[in-house]
Amino acid sequence: MRVRLIMLLVIFIFLGGDPAPVSSWDASTPSSEAVSGSDSAEEEQLTLGQLRQKYADTFKTNGPSTKKVALTFDDVPDPRYTPQVLDVLSKYNVRATFFIVGSRAEKHPDLVKRIVKEGHMVGNHSYNHPEFSKLSMNAFRKQILHTGDIIRRLAGYTPKMIRPPYGDINEEQLRWAAKQHYSIVNWNVDSLDWKGLSKEQVKDNILSAVKPGSIVLQHAGGGVGSNLNGTIEALPEIIEELHNRGYELVTLDEMLGLPKAKD
Ligand SMILES: [Zn+2]
Repeated sequence: MRVRLIMLLVIFIFLGGDPAPVSSWDASTPSSEAVSGSDSAEEEQLTLGQLRQKYADTFKTNGPSTKKVALTFDDVPDPRYTPQVLDVLSKYNVRATFFIVGSRAEKHPDLVKRIVKEGHMVGNHSYNHPEFSKLSMNAFRKQILHTGDIIRRLAGYTPKMIRPPYGDINEEQLRWAAKQHYSIVNWNVDSLDWKGLSKEQVKDNILSAVKPGSIVLQHAGGGVGSNLNGTIEALPEIIEELHNRGYELVTLDEMLGLPKAKD
């Protein structure tokens, strides 16, 4: 019986298939605001890749091809993992970018303040981590605006950069973001660390794919039962190797030549 339960759990986790942990906050997404199918059903549905090309000024997955790499950490703050990531970055005097979940920032405001105090950049990663493309425009806007307010109170600025949970966003939402002068920033190197990978796997996923201008996705927070020890253990060696290869590690505002704060 127990074996069968574990099998089911394993299957469930694999079916998740998302670049973020299967998490407790997903369950609290207000379902009354979730709308299946989009408001712009008459429009041709473009893929994320097509949207990135069409809205290249707003939608980024990498920086220019210079000897710089941006490390980014999603799903923060989380007292289990965020302090450990900050400790490693501090030891190596490296600045990174953290994408903040509003509901978590409300629970752990001091951790957000620590991120900012130690010189890192923060971005908006929604209020409770829904799939944006399944939300109504109204619910989507609330996720961004409410979280922006929470971050402004703690960090002193409203982030210009948004990273959609699971990297998922639709065209109508992109158009709104562009009009409001937000930037949508995904990644082009995925550590897949949310799967609970080992240190060696996390290291390999990053170091085998990284190139000039890369934006690297990692996590410094997770859902119930997620394990990010691989990320914590791999981080010192990833930083050392990137330095050995001559890369400068920068925050996303520096990588993209954009302000961190929304105008
Ligand atoms: Zn996430």
